[in-house]
Amino acid sequence: MTRRWMFRLVPVALAAVVMLYQFVISPKYTNPETGRTAHLGLTTQQESALGMQSFQQVISQSDVVSSGPEAEQVRRVAARLAAVTGPYAKDFEWQVAVVRDPQVNAFCLPGGKICVYTGILAVTKTDAGLATVMGHEMAHATSHHGAERMFKQNMTQTAMMGVQGSMGGMDYQQQQMVMGLLGAGAKFGVLLPFSRDHESEADKVGLMYMARAGYDPRESVNFWKRMAESSQGKQQPEFMSTHPVHETRIRQLEAWIPEVMDEYEAAAKPAER
Ligand SMILES: [Zn+2]
Repeated sequence: MTRRWMFRLVPVALAAVVMLYQFVISPKYTNPETGRTAHLGLTTQQESALGMQSFQQVISQSDVVSSGPEAEQVRRVAARLAAVTGPYAKDFEWQVAVVRDPQVNAFCLPGGKICVYTGILAVTKTDAGLATVMGHEMAHATSHHGAERMFKQNMTQTAMMGVQGSMGGMDYQQQQMVMGLLGAGAKFGVLLPFSRDHESEADKVGLMYMARAGYDPRESVNFWKRMAESSQGKQQPEFMSTHPVHETRIRQLEAWIPEVMDEYEAAAKPAER
């Protein structure tokens, strides 16, 4: 190995040390529902502060529906789901906002700030349909997926900086090529399958929440079928998209439903659905 190559490895070695440090100091979280352990890029307090800040921003810029059947339905379903998230969301202060907007969308910010657009209510239709969506979104938050994504991004960034530093002697075109390849690798190889894992985990945990709250988990499949119909032709091929294709999702849910039926039956018996 020439001296020049040795010199080039210094930034990579430094990046490796920083990454090791980031790895060691990061808080870890084991998802109680799935048993999966992940490193997080934020503490719970940081997550809650960020979630609160973004929530207030959304509210201040949106047409918030505070009364009427839509607001009541969303609040009712949120309350039942929040009640079954258990001790793992004990630091959460659940809050919900219904926003008048035709977008077929909903999200839950870190720390439990839920936002539902009225556009999705035409597809969710029933309380169980809405519980499918909200259970999924709440599961992203209780599973700390945002903080986990942040950790992965920090690590990727450090690695890229190390590589960039070691490319000092290359000409501009070569550098662009290497960074382009790495960037594409980071996007398709690390970040995207990772967020599809999150989607799948949120589907599973969301299904548990809805069953435990007494909503028929079989309704999740009907909801995704309606969703597939409403978005016909608009979906990207699966490997490019952060969301699994509807058929994959439906197949997974169908496989998980038998696992949660006991909880559903126990929860649904005394109360009406
Ligand atoms: Zn999701």
